Parts: sequence; C-alpha cells; structure tokens
Amino acid sequence: MEPATFVLFGATGDLAKRKIYPALFQLFVDQKLPSSFSLIGLGRRELSHETFRSNVEQSLITFSRSEVKDADVVKKFLRAFRYHVLDVDRKEDYTKLLQVIEEREEELNITPNRMFYLSVGPEFFETIAANIHESGLGSANGWKRLVIEKPFGHDLVSARKLNHKLNQAFDEAEIYRIDHYLGKPMVQQMGQLLHSALSEQDLRTRDIASIQISANETLGVEERAGYYDHAGAIRDMFQNHMLQLLMMLTIELPNRSAVEEVGKLKRKVMKTLKPLNKMDVSHHIVRGQYGAGEIKGGQVVGYTDEPGIALESQNDTFIAARLQVNDPFWKDTPIYIRTGKRLKEKVTRIVIEYKSRGPLKDLLIVEIGPNEGIFFQRSQSGQERSDIEMPVRSQLSFTKEGGKDAYETLIHDALIGDKTYFAHWDEVELSWEWVQPILDAYRENLTPLHIYPAGSYGPHEADELLERDGFHWWFDFKNVSNNDATKGDIHTYEYNT
Ligand code: NAD
Repeated sequence: MEPATFVLFGATGDLAKRKIYPALFQLFVDQKLPSSFSLIGLGRRELSHETFRSNVEQSLITFSRSEVKDADVVKKFLRAFRYHVLDVDRKEDYTKLLQVIEEREEELNITPNRMFYLSVGPEFFETIAANIHESGLGSANGWKRLVIEKPFGHDLVSARKLNHKLNQAFDEAEIYRIDHYLGKPMVQQMGQLLHSALSEQDLRTRDIASIQISANETLGVEERAGYYDHAGAIRDMFQNHMLQLLMMLTIELPNRSAVEEVGKLKRKVMKTLKPLNKMDVSHHIVRGQYGAGEIKGGQVVGYTDEPGIALESQNDTFIAARLQVNDPFWKDTPIYIRTGKRLKEKVTRIVIEYKSRGPLKDLLIVEIGPNEGIFFQRSQSGQERSDIEMPVRSQLSFTKEGGKDAYETLIHDALIGDKTYFAHWDEVELSWEWVQPILDAYRENLTPLHIYPAGSYGPHEADELLERDGFHWWFDFKNVSNNDATKGDIHTYEYNT
C-alpha cells in the first residue's frame, strides 16, 4: 500500500470522533494502513499535538468497536497524528499547512500522496477545494484525492454547481463521495449472497412479484434541526441512500457478470427509472411528517414541537414511493421504497416477494441493519403472523464481515484508490434529476403532507400506495404492542429459524 498523508478537515467534529478515528484505528490494528502514514488534523481551535492525540484516544475508548486495551498499540497508532490550526476561509492557513505537510513527508521520506477528507459542513466544500488548488497543496508529485460526505447539493441545480466547482480542483477520478450505505458489508455482498440464496431455494428471478425497500428509524430529529428542517427525509435518505440501495439491488438481479463495472450498471438503472412529472407526484409519492405519539413505551412530541423546528414547518420526515424500472426485466415489477423517522421499529430491510404458488407465499428478505442476513420465508398466502401457523423462516446467508463499520471499508478503499463503492457523479446527478419533480411538487404544495403518529409505520396513505397494486408492506405488526415491535431482533422474536 502506498504511503499517504491523510489531511482531515473538521478533526474536532462529531463525524471524526464517532466514525473516522475508530475506523482508522481498526485499520491500523488489522494492518491495513500504509506502513508510512501521516495524519494532519485541522480545526479552528488552538490545540497542542498532545491534546489532539488525547482527544482522539478518548474517541477510540468511547466509539471503537474493538476494545482499546493495549496502551502500546494506541500509542503507536497516535504517533502518526499531528494537529494544525486552519480556518477554511484564510488562504494563509493553507500555505502554512503545505509547509507542515511537506516537512512531515520529508521526515518520513514518503511520496506526497495526499488524501483530503472534508468532514465539515457542505457549505465549505467549494472554498476548501479552491484553496487546496490555489495554495499548491494539490500540485505535488504524488496522487491527490478528495473525500466528501453527503449532502452533495440541495437539489439538481446546486449539485451541478458544486460539482463544477470541485472539478476545477479535482478530476472526477479523484473525488470520493461517501455514501456509507455502500460501505455496509451486506450491501457489497448482496449480489453474490442473493444468487446463492436463489439457487438454494430454487427460486427464479422472473417470478418476482414486487420489491420493498424500507429504512425505518425510531429516532426523531434529535440535535440536527438546523440541517434536517431544510433537508427532510427526501434529501437526507431518499435521494442518496435509498436510491443507492435500489441501484445495488437491481444491478444484481437477474444476473450480473462479475466483470461488468458496477458504476456503469448503476447509471443504466437510473436512466431506465420511469421519470415523474410534478403534477402526478402524489400518485407515486407519499409525504409524511410525524406527530406526537409513543416510542418504546414513552411519549414523544411531534416534529413541529421539537426544539429548533418552526411550528408551521412543512418539512417531510417520511417518504414512501412507488418506482418503476423501465427495462424488459423489471418493467412489470413495482418497487416500493419508504423511509422515515419516529417509526415503530428500527430496521433497514429489502423484501423480495414472489408470485404466489398456490396458497404459498415465498419471500426473500435481505436484512441490512441492525442485523445482517438473507432469509427465506414461506408462509400461507397473506399470513405473515398467525399464532396457529407460524411462517417458516430460515437464514440462508450472513456476511462474514458483519459488525465491520462501513467507514473502515470506505476509508481503506479510498486509500488504495478503489472507487467501486463510492457514488459517482453521474449517479448523483441522475438521482437528483429523478427527485427534482418531487422537490418541486413539495415546494408548490402539490403533494399533501400527511401527519402520522410517532411509533406507527407512517401515514396510512403509504399502505394504500401498495394496496392499489394488491400488495402490502411486509412485517408491519400493527397490532403488536409498541414495546414488542421495538425489541429489535425480529427474526429471533417472530420466527422459527
Ligand atoms: P460537526 O459540526 O460536528 O463538525 C464540523 C467540523 O468543522 C468541526 O471540527 C469544526 O471545527 C469544523 N469547522 C467548522 N467551521 C470551520 C471553519 N470555518 N474552518 C475550519 N473548520 C471549521 O459536523 P459533523 O457532524 O462532524 O459533520 C461533518 C460532515 O459530515 C458534514 O458534511 C455532515 O453533513 C457529514 N455527515 C455527518 C454525519 C455524522 O454522523 N455526524 C453523518 C453523515 C454525514
């Protein structure tokens, strides 16, 4: 692995502490970092190198997935860490940063390969990229890479503008857009696992009746009111994570040859997605916002009573959508997606429903979080929960790397220059293009905002979206008490394995 300098903007921020340092530490423990590695943490506050290292150590103790018990290992890991003060708007700070980086590169005798990780608000992306370019930080004789977090723009126009600005400093090949769903082991291995599950159960992909993708959260807006009230479920989850899951699934079925490039196939899916017109968005999209209700046995307030949210806010905290991929294989298979906050249970799950064979209903279930695995379930048609005849569920596969955090995989991939599981600009642009009529319809109030009680499965209009086609959302246990449904591990709780 080539030596590299990891230049971290926002080194004192939440994402760095919760995700980036623990991921780097795990890579270090697993010997997956370059043997010559230097990290320069940047922040506005004055901090000594020692204080910075001890803050990083504290974040490892709090958030690392493996126990931080060997002081020597931590000490060795932290040797690579330096801190430097930088205000993103001050050009002279970049000149000083260049000196610091060059000194370290000389000290370590390493090629000037530089990875710039922007763990800061998106409003800073353009400024930082431009300053990297102008200061000469990006003109050394090694590779340079830019890693950015979502959101990539606020709508189609702003996303294009941002990309244009970034391209003045970095080529597309040098830009790594993190969508952490793409770093999840189950998502990366989904194709291979699904194909072995299909052959094991003798299921044919042409017998698929519908697909459902759900990402339900029990949490509300928490401390992110300022960001979330301008983003909503559609920008926070749907435009990026949910559409990426759709792409990842539909490129795998019916069959993918291993040599085909993931990015090319994903673009093809987005291009064949039947476009919406803003005037008929409400036939395909359900927009919701949570009201007061009960979560895990406790009362919670509605969205507009949350701190920092205006009483009259029309922001969406839930979206359900009916999509159609217009290619010969998928054209008759509806795909339903929903995601929302303050729902009854926390789960990210894909359900592939098969056409009924007599009274039998077969489902292939891909659990992405909080548990991981692929399950096959056979039940009497329509009976997903019955005390008399329990549907039979068996676990077919689980990922070998369950428990591995997405950031470990993605940071490692970025360090070795593998862009397979990063969002390419074309996908991002095509996603915004598809979503834009929905944003327009929301803005012009052409789509009603349905209030749903916290602790439910969203507005009942989201059920009607499927009922129109003769389907229903699987595993919505509406008659189960809230406490039971949020126990989390639904397969050990509900089913025989
Ligand atoms: P944060 O507010 O906790 O941290 C932001 C960092 O930026 C801080 O270190 C702060 O010092 C630095 N900063 C702010 N203004 C600056 C300036 N003028 N000059 C230099 N540094 C400055 O934010 P965060 O939660 O760490 O999020 C960082 C990015 O990651 C955002 O783009 C966010 O949308 C994205 N993101 C965060 C999470 C998460 O779990 N926290 C998840 C997904 C995406």
